[in-house]
Amino acid sequence: MKWDHLIKNGKIVTPEATYGAHVYIKGGKIAAISQELLEGEAKKTTDAEGLHILPGLIDTHVHSRDGGSTYKEDFFHSTKAAAAGGITTIFEMPNTNPPVNNAENFQAQLENLSAKAHVDFGMWGICLGDLNIGDLEDLNDAGVIGFKYFWGYAVDKNNYRLIYDYKEGMEDVIPPSDDGGVYRMMEAVAKTGKTFAIHAENSDLINHLTNEMKETGKSDYATVLAGRPSLAEEMTIQAGIAMAKQTGTRLHVLHVSSKEGTEAIKLAQEQGYPITAETCPHYLFLTNEDYETIGPSMKVYPLVKYQEDQDRLWQGIEDGTFSLVCSDHAPHTQEEKQGDLWSVPAGMCGVESLAPLMLNAVSEGRISLQQVAALLSENPAKQFGVYPQKGSLQPGSDADFTIVDMDKQMTIKRENLHSKSKVTAYDGFQIKGVPVATIVRGTTVMKDGEILTGPVGTLVKPL
Ligand SMILES: [Zn+2]
Repeated sequence: MKWDHLIKNGKIVTPEATYGAHVYIKGGKIAAISQELLEGEAKKTTDAEGLHILPGLIDTHVHSRDGGSTYKEDFFHSTKAAAAGGITTIFEMPNTNPPVNNAENFQAQLENLSAKAHVDFGMWGICLGDLNIGDLEDLNDAGVIGFKYFWGYAVDKNNYRLIYDYKEGMEDVIPPSDDGGVYRMMEAVAKTGKTFAIHAENSDLINHLTNEMKETGKSDYATVLAGRPSLAEEMTIQAGIAMAKQTGTRLHVLHVSSKEGTEAIKLAQEQGYPITAETCPHYLFLTNEDYETIGPSMKVYPLVKYQEDQDRLWQGIEDGTFSLVCSDHAPHTQEEKQGDLWSVPAGMCGVESLAPLMLNAVSEGRISLQQVAALLSENPAKQFGVYPQKGSLQPGSDADFTIVDMDKQMTIKRENLHSKSKVTAYDGFQIKGVPVATIVRGTTVMKDGEILTGPVGTLVKPL
């Protein structure tokens, strides 16, 4: 047989164009995309009449909790959820236990993840200040997609776990890096040429304001938000930009949530600095007002903010401030997500609802399907150095596709999620525009919502 798989009569969607064509797959790669039917038999033929074919969608920000907190989530479940939601590649975050802080732990984690991966994956490396500044070069050579820094977080001396609520005098805890330490880390990452991605929230400001707010005795959303305001995000973004200007580091701002943060990034981009940024569905589809109906399951860090912030984020998508949208998938158990808003952990499921929510935004006319191909595929692939292996519909690229039915409707239901802990803010959300097939290097991993294979995913490294 000349072809492994022919997907015929679909509509191809790239950031530049939408057009009818037939897709030919051979050996896990795109062999041809042609508006005419080509010579030769195919082992398998799929009719995609009425469907759109996007380059395989990438979620660049996933915490699968594997290892360390596999009672919340693990890589088997998170990648299954990814496949179910139309994602062909995820980039796994490094704040595991052990963390991905040196080349040895990179290899150990790669082995751990490989056996469970339903989709392809890249791996982030972590920056822990003085603790691993000497390991960053080796980590780069090992094949990390980029480096993540949790600005303002302390580190447990014994297992290098991150401490999210550091207080002075805590035992066995290495305090957060000071600004000089961050500056040196950024210099070290600049040498690798890779991205330095920051969780940007000023912890000094947050600790001070949070203590004040807790003393009010209130724990409503507005009070908690007053303890963790947009100013915290803006301050750290500004500090990051200032250091990136000096060091030439490719700074990437993770999960931007505020108007002020967006504007700071936009300004630096206009000045020509290599600053990129992402935002997430929770900031695009939720505001503080949703807390009344959704409750603590929508608690994420940075916190979901106000309508004016949401409006500015959409504008940032339109004007290109944001190069990508990702989930920040970070599940906790149902039990953990109940109770007092101050103490409930931040994070929820996201990898499975990312594409459906963005497709629904297409149905609502907020963005185009071509923009989805850019934000969830081509842009991240280019930015993290895996293009044109990923994010591309050219012959020779990996045969990764997300096939979507823009007429199909569904309701996001908590109990239908494939993650281990099924906590979502989107339970009951009506969606129009649904991924109906996920194809990873030629293998159909999901069709019509059913997972068809076991783990087939492999590591993707920057080229
Ligand atoms: Zn995250």
